[in-house]
Amino acid sequence: MNEWNYDIFWKEALKQIREKISDIDNSMWFKNIGYHGSGKNKIILSVPSAFYKEQVTQKFNSLILSTMSELTGSPIDIEFIVKQVTTKNEKKAEPESKVKPGKPIQKSTVKDNPEKNSNLRRDYVFDNFVIGESNTFAANACIAISKNPGKAYNPCLIYGGVGLGKTHLIQSIGNYILDNFKGMKVEYVTAEQFTNDFIRLLGEGEMYKFKNKYRKVDVLLIDDIHFLGKKMSTQEELFHTFNALYDYNKQMVFTSDRPVSELKNLTDRLKSRFSRGLNVDLQPPRYETKFAILKQKLETLGANLDDEILDLICKNVTTNVRDLEAALTKLIAYGELLNKKITIDIAKEQLKDDFSSPRHGNITIDIIQKIVADYFNLSQNDLRGKKRTKAITFPRQIAMYITREITEYSTTEVGVDFGGRDHTTVMHACQRIESKLKSDPSLEPIIQNLIRMIKENRINS
Ligand code: ADP
Ligand code: MG
Repeated sequence: MNEWNYDIFWKEALKQIREKISDIDNSMWFKNIGYHGSGKNKIILSVPSAFYKEQVTQKFNSLILSTMSELTGSPIDIEFIVKQVTTKNEKKAEPESKVKPGKPIQKSTVKDNPEKNSNLRRDYVFDNFVIGESNTFAANACIAISKNPGKAYNPCLIYGGVGLGKTHLIQSIGNYILDNFKGMKVEYVTAEQFTNDFIRLLGEGEMYKFKNKYRKVDVLLIDDIHFLGKKMSTQEELFHTFNALYDYNKQMVFTSDRPVSELKNLTDRLKSRFSRGLNVDLQPPRYETKFAILKQKLETLGANLDDEILDLICKNVTTNVRDLEAALTKLIAYGELLNKKITIDIAKEQLKDDFSSPRHGNITIDIIQKIVADYFNLSQNDLRGKKRTKAITFPRQIAMYITREITEYSTTEVGVDFGGRDHTTVMHACQRIESKLKSDPSLEPIIQNLIRMIKENRINS
C-alpha cells in the first residue's frame, strides 16, 4: 500500500475549507479541483486548466497548505496538475509549468531577484500597473520614490478605497528598489502583521528582534494602516519606529483606506507624522483606464475576449479594479472549463448578479444617513429631525443629494425617509449642493469620499 495516501485528508480538508470560503468560491474553484494522487509529503491535485492552476495557486494555496498540514500534522507540499475536462474538441493537457506551489506566480516580465523579500509579490510591479487619470499622481509619486528612496517624498501615504491598487503600488516600490538598489533592505508588511509581530515579540520579551526587523531597514512599507484602529501600544511603537527611521532619511510608505484626517482612532502625533510628507489618493478608474487594465490582464493570462465584452464589463463594474478583474476572471474560467467561446450573451448571463448587486442593491437610505451622520459627527436622528441649524442642514442636504445621485429612490421617497419632508425640499437640497459644488472646490472630494464609503458600506466604529 502507498505509504503516502492523502486522499482521506483531502476529503476532510475540503469540508473544512468549504466552511471558510464563499459559495461562489466553492462552486467556481473547489468543485473543479480533484484528488489525483500523493507523493512523499505531497498531495497532487488536478485542475481543469492552466488558468485554473494559476488562479487557485494565487488565491488558495496557503489555505489549502495550512489546512492539509494541520490535518496531517506535518508540512505538506501541493502539486497541481492540469487535467482537462473531456469535451468534443478535447485538447491535450498542457505540460506542467515549472511554477512550484507555495510560491507566488512569477510573470514572464518579472525578473527573479536573489534578495527577494518573501513578503513581496513579484507580480506587483510598475510594468503592469496601468496609469490613468484616477491614479496618475499616486503612480508617478511612487515611481519617483522608487528612483530616489528616502529623498523624493518621505514619508508617503497612499490612500483610497478597496481594490484601487494601493497594495499593487506599495509593493511595486519594494520590488523596484530591490531590483535596482543592490544591498538595500526593504521590509513590506501589513499593519496587521506589524501589530502581530509587536504583540508577540513584546510578550516573548524579545523586543530587540522587533527593532532589528523594523528599524534596521532602508525602506519600510506598511500597508493598510487603518487596521491600527485603537491599538494604542502598537501606535506608540510605530511612532518610535517612524522617528528612528525618519532621522536617518530612510524611506517610509504607508497605505490607508481613507485620508489621515479621517482615521479617527489614530493619535494626533501619529497623524501629524503621516501627513508630514506626501499624501496621494487613488480614485476609481474611468472607462479608458478600466479598458486598458482588462486588455493588459488578458494579455498576461494569454486569454482573449471580444472588445464588446470588455466594454460590457467596463460599463457595469463601477466599484474598483478588484471587481473588474473578478468579472474578467469569472468569464475566462467559464470559457476554459466548458471549452467554449464567450459570447456577449453568455457574458451578460454570467455576470448579471455581479452587475446588479454593488450598484444599488445594498445601498439603502438608512446606510447613507448613517455614514453621512457619522462623518459629520451627528446622529442619524439629526438628519431626519426638524432642527434647522446650519451644522445639521448642510449634512442633511448632502445626504439627500448623495441619495439622489447613487440610488433610484424618487424625491418623494427620499423626503419621506428624511423625516417626512416634502419632495420639493429634496429638490431644493440637491440644487443647493449642486451650486455649492460649482463654487467650492473642496466639497467634491468630500462627497466622492462619502459615496465611496457608502458603496463599500463602511461604517466607522
Ligand atoms: P487595494 O490594496 O487598494 O485594495 P490592490 O492593490 O490589491 O488594491 O488591487 C486590486 C487588484 O487590482 C490587484 O490585482 C491589482 O493588481 C489590480 N490593479 C489595481 N489597480 C491597477 C492598475 N492601475 N493597473 C493594473 N492592475 C491594477
Ligand atoms: Mg490592499
